[in-house]
Amino acid sequence: MPGKIIDGKQIADFILVRVRTEVAEFKKKGVVPKLVVIQVGDDPGSTIYVNRKKKTCLELGMDSEVKRFPVSITYEDLLNEIKKLNADRKVHGILVQLPLPEHLNHKKVLETVDPAKDVDGLHPYNQGKNLLGKECFQPATPRGIVTLLESVIPELEGKNVVVIGRSNIVGKPIAVMLLNRGCTVTICHSKTKELSDFTTRADILISAVGKPKLVKADMVKKGAVVIDVGISRLDNGKLAGDVDFDEVIKKASWITPVPKGVGPMTIASLMENTIKACRDIEWPGK
Ligand code: NAP
Repeated sequence: MPGKIIDGKQIADFILVRVRTEVAEFKKKGVVPKLVVIQVGDDPGSTIYVNRKKKTCLELGMDSEVKRFPVSITYEDLLNEIKKLNADRKVHGILVQLPLPEHLNHKKVLETVDPAKDVDGLHPYNQGKNLLGKECFQPATPRGIVTLLESVIPELEGKNVVVIGRSNIVGKPIAVMLLNRGCTVTICHSKTKELSDFTTRADILISAVGKPKLVKADMVKKGAVVIDVGISRLDNGKLAGDVDFDEVIKKASWITPVPKGVGPMTIASLMENTIKACRDIEWPGK
């Protein structure tokens, strides 16, 4: 029997209904949760993501602003802009859209965001707390993946997980989050030899690479849950994940599609993080 599709859009919509209610509660008390997204340059892909984040905020009744800077912005000027947002009482969440141009030291830029407003969970303070399994801002995509997994797997403990990709945004944090839930986790990357030796043992296979059809059916264990994080634009303009969906669905028990899988969950988790930032800043200790 072919696997079932995990409908990320439906689960994300469910989360957003809850967020909308929380926004309304804040507004009754005179507080409007606000997310500011920083974009440097005008990369078309980044512009689409940035605009989508702002649009979702506004639809939920939040405030949102995109601060766009030219590629020529100096490192010092960008840090000063972030410091201004850190100090702005009306701003609860700050997100720096990646990638940044080469001349801007992205690590230092991310470290300049106040950890209390770091809704993307990329400040070393939040990454460290995530590693330790402590309450923090978790990066939105891994947070969304955990929600998707919990919707189809009643007990994550003891599951064999293979993550392909080791970025600070997806691969490493999702590995840590599942390790902290009692999974046995293997991380693979571009230097991994014989990738399929690892992937064929996975109860849960997560691919976060950005290479269409990297994951073929013969690399997947029968009955595995397959989460496809990758997003690539094909020559015909269509979006593709990392997984050979039409073939892998015949072996998997559950699988996420691209689009409408992990993508909507990333936005929903970002909104949840922004609400958390607003709550922590406006009513500390609650
Ligand atoms: P990244 O920083 O470029 O990391 C890609 C990872 O894939 C690296 O760790 C790399 O290994 C590994 N890799 C490359 N080729 C490989 C191969 N042939 N076999 C095994 N591993 C390989 O990318 P990212 O930011 O993590 O994003 C990954 C993908 O997810 C991209 O397509 C991105 O667009 C997508 N994404 C989607 C969402 C969403 O909301 N759906 C959110 C974030 C990202 P090395 O470390 O050895 O180079």
